[in-house]
Amino acid sequence: MDLLKDFGSRVFSDDIMMKHLPSEIYNSLKKSIELSLPLQPEIASIIAAAMKDWAIENGATHYTHWFQPMTGITAGKHDSFISLKSGEIEFEFSGKELIKGEPDASSFPHGGLRNTFEARGYTVWDCTSPAFIKGKTLYIPTAFCSYNGEALDTKTPLLRSMEVISEQAIRILRAFGNDNTTQVIPTVGAEQEYFLIDRQNYEKRLDLKICGRTMFGTNPPKGQEMDDHYCSRIRIRISDYMYELDKELWKFGIGSKTRHNEVAPAQHEMAPMFESCNVASDHNQLTMETMRTVAKEKQLACLLHEKPFAYVNGSGKHNNWSLSTANGKNLLDIGKTKKENLQFLVFLCAVIRGVDMHAGLLHLTAASAGNDNRLGAQEAPPSIISIFLGKHLTDILNNIACGKSISDENDTDVLVTNVHTLPNLPKDDSDRNRTSPFAFTGNKFEFRMLGSSASISLSTTVINLIVAESLEYFASIIENSDNFDKAIIDIIEETMKKHGRIIFNGNGYTASWQEEAKKRGLSNLKNTVEAAGEFINEKSVKLFEHFNVLSRCECQARYEIMLGIYCKTLSIEANTMLEMVNRQILPAVIRYANEISKTYIYMDKCGVRNDSLKDTLKSLSKSIDDITNAKDLLKASVEIKDFNNKLEKAQHYCNSVLNLMNSLRESVDKVEHIIPKDKWPMPSITDLLYRV
Ligand code: ADP
Ligand code: MG
Repeated sequence: MDLLKDFGSRVFSDDIMMKHLPSEIYNSLKKSIELSLPLQPEIASIIAAAMKDWAIENGATHYTHWFQPMTGITAGKHDSFISLKSGEIEFEFSGKELIKGEPDASSFPHGGLRNTFEARGYTVWDCTSPAFIKGKTLYIPTAFCSYNGEALDTKTPLLRSMEVISEQAIRILRAFGNDNTTQVIPTVGAEQEYFLIDRQNYEKRLDLKICGRTMFGTNPPKGQEMDDHYCSRIRIRISDYMYELDKELWKFGIGSKTRHNEVAPAQHEMAPMFESCNVASDHNQLTMETMRTVAKEKQLACLLHEKPFAYVNGSGKHNNWSLSTANGKNLLDIGKTKKENLQFLVFLCAVIRGVDMHAGLLHLTAASAGNDNRLGAQEAPPSIISIFLGKHLTDILNNIACGKSISDENDTDVLVTNVHTLPNLPKDDSDRNRTSPFAFTGNKFEFRMLGSSASISLSTTVINLIVAESLEYFASIIENSDNFDKAIIDIIEETMKKHGRIIFNGNGYTASWQEEAKKRGLSNLKNTVEAAGEFINEKSVKLFEHFNVLSRCECQARYEIMLGIYCKTLSIEANTMLEMVNRQILPAVIRYANEISKTYIYMDKCGVRNDSLKDTLKSLSKSIDDITNAKDLLKASVEIKDFNNKLEKAQHYCNSVLNLMNSLRESVDKVEHIIPKDKWPMPSITDLLYRV
């Protein structure tokens, strides 16, 4: 019961606001949130005072404007509430301080959007996401933009895209006779995968500490081939962690709902209850931070990297997305009447059309150096973008497109079980083979390409926009037609004819799908460098510009930031490998070679010539050469600096540095097999995966 009482106890929630604010102030804040209107300064002052009193009552001494720069993580500087008034120190927090902050923006990625002499950036309170207390600090979710108003974060475009899709969705609802709904909200539930390993082992691996993933390490004798980890019994140390994590998340009002073991050893998953997409985005960031801090307290390390271990599955994040009216009606729910179902099909078609038209851009939202390690392998969706709809829905759409009518009754397929004790169930059409990157799962879509460490902001922004663009197109067709039913049928027909190629209900891991997708001309971007280009292609720029979400300049800036982060990530990984090889791995191999040669000589002196020892020595000697050559080549490649532009540099990292990193790893892993465990300078992958 206490746990329930604690739910949201650290949040300046709707209930708390209602309790602490005069009713006219509360109502005017709610109105500003619903209609996206600016807050009056007098009202902001009253809210700020109430927020400060509540925060201090709950132990806070500082506040921070919490924002999400384009580093993919969160940031904020902390100010205390103290202020000097007539010679006395007191706690104060003004409306101005609540609404707007001015952090120095010069140290955050901006992709050339501002000069260092114009270092100012603004943080602006996002009153649609609740403030909360973490530690002794009041966190105020904010959007972050430059002096000239350009977005410098991931939240500003997300908030803009929410307004855009709401406006277009309402046009469709109006066309279907709904005159009441004033706001449509994209909802998101972000399933989060992660690894948990023992902290002591983690501390002993430079690659894990610096890069978040192992850069070396031999295949463990047992990986995931027995299929015995997924949803298996949760070990006590892990369930203790999960309990503590849930307790913390619940205090932040995060509805952590489902937890289970994932496919790889030491891998787990958490799924939260869904909510408005910008709150879900803030909450996912907070979830990742909390996962890490709770792990540290429990002498564990939580790995959120997409591919911490080479030989077992990596981790992803599923962005479950739907649209809801302000009073909670899910617009992707199948209805009971013909009209409801036609409306559902229009929203469905908007997703189909949007994904087909902007598949590359969607891929871009999941692309990162980390995620390149898993996308397209048989553990994550293929890099071909397609939509899973299920046979039932695909048939319905095809039938309508071919001129067959839709029945008045909902004709859900029935799965006949033929077992008397089991009831007949509605046929569950949702995609259980998990190979589809974009699957309809009953009453929502699930975008499954995201990497585990990614922010969900950009992918959600893009889904909102590509769907909004199609809703806008459909709304014009319906509004300009004098035959409502025919307009809807035309929309479905056109969608299936022009964009039906994106629908694929089969197994995405097969070679035949690769062939088929090529014939269909579907997007199949191979890596982050290819995907980044989608930010500046004309179609994407027009989409962002059309809805005033990003300008051409801002798209270019984001493209450059993306390539920059890609190069920096690989450069850090390569340098970490070099450091480990030079200062840990090569010395260990040489020490062992020394030991073997001494043993060989001593044995020889005793009259025993051992050729096996000599062979081992030869292998060690060859390894020393191979590793030295590989690391020298890598070093030379990382040191190349003269590139004409960011793209050329990123291509160099993708085509040269990455391959050399792989061959260095190969030569190191070969020798790890022959060095005794107590002589290897770091815990092995087996130690990492099986010690908890
Ligand atoms: P499963 O994928 O196993 O069927 P669920 O349907 O329970 O699981 O949901 C998986 C995730 O999808 C959860 O995080 C949940 O909150 C989210 N989700 C469910 N319904 C919606 C919705 N209408 N909008 C957004 N996310 C949703
Ligand atoms: Mg899922």
